[in-house]
Amino acid sequence: MNKRRLVTELPGPRSRALMERKTSAVADGVGTTMPVFAAKAGGGIVVDVDGNQLIDLGSGIAVTTVGASNPRVVRAVTEQVEAFTHTCFMVTPYDGYVRVAEKLNQLTPGDHDKRTALFNSGAEAVENAVKIARAYTRRDAVVVFDHAYHGRTNLTLAMTAKNKPYKHTFGPFAPEVYRAPGSYPYRDGNLDGAAAAARAVDQIEKQIGAENLAALVIEPIQGEGGFIEPAPGFLPALAAWCRASGVVFVADEVQTGFARTGDLFACEHENVVPDLIVTAKGIAGGLPLSAVTGRAEIMNAAHEGGLGGTYGGNPIACAAALAAIETIEEDGLGARATEIETLIKERLSRLAVQDLRLAGVRGRGAMIAVELVREGSTEPDPRLARDVARYAHRHGVIVLTCGTYGNVLRFLPPLTITDELLNDAFDVLADALNATAPKAAAQQADALKATALEATAPKATALEATAPEATR
Ligand SMILES: *Cc1c(COP(=O)(O)O)cnc(C)c1O
Repeated sequence: MNKRRLVTELPGPRSRALMERKTSAVADGVGTTMPVFAAKAGGGIVVDVDGNQLIDLGSGIAVTTVGASNPRVVRAVTEQVEAFTHTCFMVTPYDGYVRVAEKLNQLTPGDHDKRTALFNSGAEAVENAVKIARAYTRRDAVVVFDHAYHGRTNLTLAMTAKNKPYKHTFGPFAPEVYRAPGSYPYRDGNLDGAAAAARAVDQIEKQIGAENLAALVIEPIQGEGGFIEPAPGFLPALAAWCRASGVVFVADEVQTGFARTGDLFACEHENVVPDLIVTAKGIAGGLPLSAVTGRAEIMNAAHEGGLGGTYGGNPIACAAALAAIETIEEDGLGARATEIETLIKERLSRLAVQDLRLAGVRGRGAMIAVELVREGSTEPDPRLARDVARYAHRHGVIVLTCGTYGNVLRFLPPLTITDELLNDAFDVLADALNATAPKAAAQQADALKATALEATAPKATALEATAPEATR
């Protein structure tokens, strides 16, 4: 299980049958990127129910950083399941929760006194960070940024920027959430970090007033919004302004955390110390767990009994988190993320030299993206991104798109993937770009005409024509 291998067309017969049952049983609102059902996963490969082996460049959206069946995680989870599955930390607590809190207090940026509270999902943790900041400051307003993604609950939808697919028809949303302009070097004329921060602060002061602002919530590298890496200096300037204004600076590291970007947390890249840091996704090797960690005086502002939830800090998820964190530390996965960055950026830069539809290669560690644009412009080309992703999907590479304009290809492999798999996946992407090049399309049309004359349609085009569209 260490190679891409296709034994049926994609999706195969078993996946197609399951997709029919999914359509009859699961709400249409729950889409899937690929019409392929998983049977087994690990080591950068997802094996589908038809026995096809796909290369995983998505990690289940940046979750399986240590791999989808990491041996340490499997062992820890198995032991915990045998001991007990749940007691509710708010009823009879257990040490796994405390140990995860101690670890997070120790590992997150800053050596000040910290406290942690555990939850289930990223969105739930973001909501709790806002609750805590409001309790501490006794202020209401929250500021977020253009292209932000913070989750799909009502408050976090108010904080998320993009209408479709996230917000459309689901409002009204929670009040007192304001949006400021961010830093998007590829699209804001390389405005420098200090200038972009000054622009945001000016808007915040004029439209909200610092004295009304409880928290500024920001992703150090924006995830769903397009892997947008702000200009250097942007985050430190905002953090400094928050400190001077009594505003709680909240880093949403749900996607960037746990060695994804090479550093354990993306804030560390510019020595930014957030007041509160929100983590989830990569924290627990695939089990649902999230956390808010931060300054003790802020975290303790919420009254006793004010924070919690039935499942928050579930013992199985805590056992998995301790094993995942140990793996990141012992196996040097931060350094591995940096190697992956070098490999992917090298492959993308080489492609971008020959193909002017690729632009804005960016990101850090194993969180890298490229924008697809109309040749010779910066105009987003979401259609091309979709076509390239679909080609990759049909050829056994799981790749995700993102971005406000839907034109960004993003690469988020597990840190346990091999160079061999990465190179194979980027060979497929190179083929995908060739296949979607305007010239290639014209040649293909000519070839089709020729073969139509001979009345023998080529196999490959028959497959392309019948492959159902990925539903996303
Ligand atoms: C995924 C994500 C969330 C939401 O996490 P869920 O576990 O899906 O609720 C919040 N913030 C960021 C930056 C994310 O990437």
